[in-house]
Formats: sequence, structure tokens, C-alpha cells
Amino acid sequence: MSGVLVIVELARGKVAAVSLELLGLARRVAALTGGGVAALVFSGDPATAAALVAHGADRVFSVGDPAAADYNSDTWLAYAERAAAEAAASLVLAGHTTQGADLAPRLAFRLKSAVATGCVAVEAQNGRLRFTRPCYGGNARETVSFETLPAVATLRGGIYDALPADASRQGEILTLGSDVPASRLRVVERHRENAGKMRLEDARVIVAGGRGLNGPEGFRVLEELAGALGGGVGASRVPCDLGWCPHSMQIGLTGKTVTPDLYIAVGISGAGHHMAGCGNAKTIVAINTDPEAAIFRDARFGVVGDFRKVVPALAAEVTALLSKAAKDTS
Ligand SMILES: Cc1cc2nc3c(=O)[nH]c(=O)nc-3n(C[C@H](O)[C@H](O)[C@H](O)COP(=O)(O)OP(=O)(O)OC[C@H]3O[C@@H](n4cnc5c(N)ncnc54)[C@H](O)[C@@H]3O)c2cc1C
Repeated sequence: MSGVLVIVELARGKVAAVSLELLGLARRVAALTGGGVAALVFSGDPATAAALVAHGADRVFSVGDPAAADYNSDTWLAYAERAAAEAAASLVLAGHTTQGADLAPRLAFRLKSAVATGCVAVEAQNGRLRFTRPCYGGNARETVSFETLPAVATLRGGIYDALPADASRQGEILTLGSDVPASRLRVVERHRENAGKMRLEDARVIVAGGRGLNGPEGFRVLEELAGALGGGVGASRVPCDLGWCPHSMQIGLTGKTVTPDLYIAVGISGAGHHMAGCGNAKTIVAINTDPEAAIFRDARFGVVGDFRKVVPALAAEVTALLSKAAKDTS
């Protein structure tokens, strides 16, 4: 047992960024352990399998079963268990996404092993892999290692770099048979929130709002700024809990983990639970009326002021600068 298996997720038909990052990590781990890298993908599309090989997979287990096209914990679990055995995996990696965080503990239980969820680092020490993850509401970090194999871990996105695609890489593409037990789950309805909007996990710019927006109207103001910057709109937990915006917009320990180049936190105090989801953004800008707000400790740039004045002024300035830049280049 020395292989690494990556459970791949697709986003709008393409391999999700976090899965490509995990393939890059898997290659680094495989270089230490001497095993190969396998990927399990719930798609029968040869181009998707080829993309996974180009990004570092030696073997791709391709599942074309229509019952597994959309996430189903029962069906995915059956295939993941089979792929882990075929790959002789000592480590199974999944993204710390809604799907990965649901599937990984189930898989670890099936494999009679253990799971480390929400990891931010994997390193080898004395021949053993060690996994670091936030704990105590994001206020501390713990490092764990496994007594049992295969180790199962979910990794947050934006931590590891994907390898550049290398079309000359050779890999084996295997089709996993569809003779897994029928799912005991029946999906009654699927509802896609924010259909057509940018996935926060992929956004290079995020404008996020908190309780300080004082109601759902505040988010319209943020949308203008995000639109001008070509970014997406996120939220702290409070506005989601209060029904001002959908929970799919929540960023933080119990929400999404994002790693944009620019994160503009508006009316957000900067609690550890929130920063656990955005603390790895390249540049954080805070807009807050309270000069003592904790967010200013994490922010590279800060504006002390009311968002109702600051955000529209910023949106107008960005729009003017962009239209000037467009004129200058035409
Ligand atoms: C187990 C657990 C998990 C959690 N998970 C998450 C999570 O995933 N994500 C998350 O975000 N939180 C999470 N929380 C909640 C977290 O602890 C905080 O309560 C929450 O992040 C606070 O949200 P906030 O910053 O929007 O609100 P507040 O802390 O109330 O901050 C509002 C801010 O707005 C500012 N403000 C007010 N008016 C204006 C104005 N007009 N213009 C500009 N600024 C203004 C205020 O000065 C203040 O700093 C979790 C909590 C627990 C216990």
C-alpha cells in the first residue's frame, strides 16, 4: 500500500481547481512514498480523464455510471471504496468541499481507518505523513498523523499549486464497472443556488458582507462593486443565518474556504470563525465603522467608515479607472 488516490470533483463540467491542486500535492507525496497517483472521476468523458493525466495522475478510474453523475453519498462511496482498493491507496485525498467533507468520513469508516478533515498542510516527518488543520474555531492549529491506513483527508482549496498541464504525460485510463449496489438514497429535488453566478471558490476577487450591512439591501451595493471588479459576492455567517442571502454565500469555518487575490470584507468584524475561510486571501481590504474591529489586524488596507458611503465611492472610482484604461488601450 503506497498509492495516493484523489477523489475528483467537477465544476460546471470541468475538473474543479481544488482537485487539480490535490493532484499536485499527491505527486509530491508519491515522490516521498514511492507510490503512484490515481484519480477517481465521476465522468466517462475521455477528455476529462486526459486532463487528469496531464495534471499528474498515473491512473484514472473513470465512472460513467449515470447514477453517479451528480453527487450521491451512497454511490460515490461504493466507487471510492473500490478505487481505493484498486489503487492500493495508503492515502485518499478529497477537497474540503460540501461533497468531500460528506464523503471522506464515510469512506474512512468503510476502510476501517480514520479521517482528518479541513487540512491546510501535509508534510512528511520520519517517514510519516502529518496533517495540519485549524481547531478551536480557527484560533489554533493541530497536527495529526494516522495509526491506520489508508489515511483519508480533506484539504482546503488554494493551499497547494496545481502542476502545469503536460499533454505528453502518459497514464492509464480504466473504467470502473457500474455493478455497485443500488443507492438507498433518492434525490427528490435539486436546487442550484446562485445559478449562473461565479463560484466563490474560483473567484479571484470577492466582496463579502457581514452584519454591518444591516439588511439584504446592503448586498446590492456590494454587487455593484463586485461587478466592477469582475468578482463574486460572499458573506459572513450572520447575514446567511438572518436570511439576507443564501447559505451558499457563507465563508468561514462552517462555510466555504476561499483564496482570492483580493478579499474586500465589508461590515465584517473579523471573528476567527470567519477568517478561517478567507485568511489565506492574498490581499484583504476591510471597510468597517469600528477602528478597533479585529478585521483590521488581518487586513493589508483598511477604511474606517460607513459602507454606504465608502462602497459606492469605491465602485465609481474602479469603474472610472477601468473605462479610462480601456480608452487608453483602444
Ligand atoms: C461553531 C461556529 C462556527 C461558525 N462559523 C462561521 C463561519 O463559517 N463564517 C462566519 O462568518 N462566522 C461563523 N461563525 C460566527 C462568528 O463567530 C461570528 O459571529 C460572525 O463571523 C460575525 O459576523 P459579522 O462579522 O458579520 O458580524 P459582527 O461580528 O456583528 O460584525 C459586524 C461588523 O460590522 C461593522 N459595521 C456596523 N455597521 C457598519 C457600517 N454601516 N459600515 C461598515 N461597517 C459596519 C461593525 O463595526 C462590526 O465590526 C461561527 C460561529 C460558531 C460558534
